[in-house]
Amino acid sequence: MRLSKETNLKYLKVDLQSNGIRVLKGDKGRIGGAGPAGAKIFTFGDTVANVPTMSTFVENSPYSVELEGGKGILKRYDDEVAVIESPMPEFYKLKTKEGIPYKQIGLLHGTDCLASTPVQTCVYWNMPDRCKFCGIELSRKKGTTTAVKRPEEIAEVADAAKRLDKVSHVTLTIGTLKGADKGIKVLCKCASAIKDLTGLPIHAQFEPPDDFRYLEELHASGVDTVGVHIESFDEDVLRKIAPAKARIGVDGFMNAWKRSVELFGENQVSSFIIAGLGEDDQSIIEGSRILADLGVYPLVLSLRPIPGSDLENEIPPGFERMKRIYEEVSMIVKDRGLSWKRSKAGCVRCRACSALDVFEK
Ligand code: SF4
Repeated sequence: MRLSKETNLKYLKVDLQSNGIRVLKGDKGRIGGAGPAGAKIFTFGDTVANVPTMSTFVENSPYSVELEGGKGILKRYDDEVAVIESPMPEFYKLKTKEGIPYKQIGLLHGTDCLASTPVQTCVYWNMPDRCKFCGIELSRKKGTTTAVKRPEEIAEVADAAKRLDKVSHVTLTIGTLKGADKGIKVLCKCASAIKDLTGLPIHAQFEPPDDFRYLEELHASGVDTVGVHIESFDEDVLRKIAPAKARIGVDGFMNAWKRSVELFGENQVSSFIIAGLGEDDQSIIEGSRILADLGVYPLVLSLRPIPGSDLENEIPPGFERMKRIYEEVSMIVKDRGLSWKRSKAGCVRCRACSALDVFEK
């Protein structure tokens, strides 16, 4: 793809997420952790993008940048494409009174979202059941985060991030834990502490619990939006890539989405759908329609082959495929009156990992 001036800012995010950026000078971002890692946050135009910087495929990217003070000129081969910036939050300079750096407790995601993983382990991690794209325990092994964060510590960091860096919402994610709540009880404690201290809108992500009363507890604890991520609507793909999620099945997720929408409201529930796991376009588009009909925002994004994960050597879908998918899904989203702008907190509002926001316009 050759970018023209007219299209570049609209489609640049898609192309960057398909190709990545070679960071020739400066920090490359976060290596592991929950969500799409091995990447760095950049802002340009009126959007923000979480762009792969460390995966193997990035070595072949036509895009490169040299960062000075978090800013640089993005080049496509030798052509200058855009000025891009990477936020450098003030709260990263602080530590708790026990000496734990704040950035080991929470990170700035997007431009205004604090993200934290209260428990950086997963029951499936050392089993064949683990999600093949996931890197949740990798950052702990690299020593860039702590395995367990206390609710008061996360609240303290959220408070600083709100004051110093204008953080306006919080994402809490977690690996699946033992027990019928699957980790939700921990999320409840963290949400209560953050809400009490900061009043910030909070998003929580989890595997559907065995008992939906835990969803009610989550709502009562101050969580505003939830992410219940099926990842793929192709059942064969799901069995291969995320066997534990395949066992829950589409029906199990449907029940969790419906109850979540009753509790949290339309547009306040979301599910990631990853493109590039071996599915066809139709499963993504049909899946998005199923979600949108329930009032759930279909957060489509391209595969992130996180270094150290089982899929580290994969290549994300190319620009043309992602553009086609985003165009179709954005029509569905618009038809149902859903929008990233209506989301109170979390990945949908942050919008760094998906390029659906630029197609909503
Ligand atoms: S979209 Fe979600 S996972 Fe991605 S950077 Fe934003 S908060 Fe983090």
